[in-house]
Amino acid sequence: MKVLVVNAGSSSLKYQLFDMDTEEVIAKGNAERIGLDGSFLKHKAKGVETILSKVLTNHAEAIKLILDTLVDAQIGVIKSIDEIDAIGHRVVHGGSEYTKPTLVNQKVIDDLRGLVDFAPVHAIPNTDGIIGCVQVAPQIPNVTVFDTAFHSTMPDYAYLYGIPMEYYRDYAVRRYGAHGTSHKFVGQKLAEYMGVPFDKCKLITCHIGNGSSITAIKDGKCIDTSMGFTPLEGLIMGTRCGDIDANVIQFLCKKTGLDVNQVTDILNKKSGLLGITERSSDMRDICAMYEKGDKAAVLALEMLAYRIKKYIGAYAAALDGVDGICFTAGIGENTPELREMVLTGLKYLGIKFDKDANYSIPRGEDGLLTSKDSAIPVYVISTNEELAIAKETVELVSNLKK
Ligand code: ADP
Repeated sequence: MKVLVVNAGSSSLKYQLFDMDTEEVIAKGNAERIGLDGSFLKHKAKGVETILSKVLTNHAEAIKLILDTLVDAQIGVIKSIDEIDAIGHRVVHGGSEYTKPTLVNQKVIDDLRGLVDFAPVHAIPNTDGIIGCVQVAPQIPNVTVFDTAFHSTMPDYAYLYGIPMEYYRDYAVRRYGAHGTSHKFVGQKLAEYMGVPFDKCKLITCHIGNGSSITAIKDGKCIDTSMGFTPLEGLIMGTRCGDIDANVIQFLCKKTGLDVNQVTDILNKKSGLLGITERSSDMRDICAMYEKGDKAAVLALEMLAYRIKKYIGAYAAALDGVDGICFTAGIGENTPELREMVLTGLKYLGIKFDKDANYSIPRGEDGLLTSKDSAIPVYVISTNEELAIAKETVELVSNLKK
């Protein structure tokens, strides 16, 4: 079975074609600068990367070019697009209604477009990617896989804010979370490494990337996660502030003369690691500065590590104990300095940190960060959201055929 996974952004459309019998990626790439001057497709297959320059005015044209390239006699990998059994779409927000992978029809497309207030940056491009596929290859089933879905099992006392209930009733203001596909994927792997069933353990998964979130999983279900109504809540991130007293917004408006939209923009795009270091949101830059003893970089790492520790502590309490913890995503997988700062501060949980292992696990590989006699094992686990989406797509499409 072959599945094409599509991740549509506002001006880009990333794709991976999986052979799900082997879970191997047989081609992948990115259509970039869609709707802008100089659009092109970067396509990689059989170890060769090809750049194809072509005017791409919308997502449908990008999908057409991708499908044409996949069947191309020279650089393609399949003979006909009919070899693609399904297309799986990454969708950032499913609102309250979409809590599991869903087969696309016109209602789904209309509903997802309506979620623009919940995912202002992603809702329209995500739906444009789906519409493009439906237009260009109507015979292939499209499946939406939602970043919010895994968090739909949170209890009401965890997802509600302490504001008047009418805002939840009238406008669905509540916590939704994000990165759900990744948390579920690494959570399942963590349980596998621990040799326990995913649906019979208590786990904390730390997805630390440019956007970051931590999730508490009990018996295979999310019971709490650090991102909220939008991805602004929770940890300190690349450019987002994470948890903050909401009154700061009004105060800054008064002091600076900026309006609410401008201050909100600052909290989303100019804060976090970028705001603290005043130089970069990228952990590679910050680690280079940290190695030279740069004070702002040290502070940024300390602030991030402190907040991760606080969330782990909070979720250990929420779960009433924890059996295993893991780190994943760009920073979680690649920044041993940060993992050390977090894990040396969790002795009260009985965690015995293995410093040598932490610094010697090769990048991109999974490994154990604690010693054998640690009360709780902590792993680094590579996330693979595309493979997770492909798996969910296969499951739904296979059930349809039964
Ligand atoms: P997102 O998917 O949220 O855009 P990623 O999970 O790709 O983000 O994480 C991006 C972050 O990971 C960046 O801060 C980047 O610097 C960091 N990162 C990626 N590779 C490395 C590395 N080799 N060393 C340190 N940090 C890294």
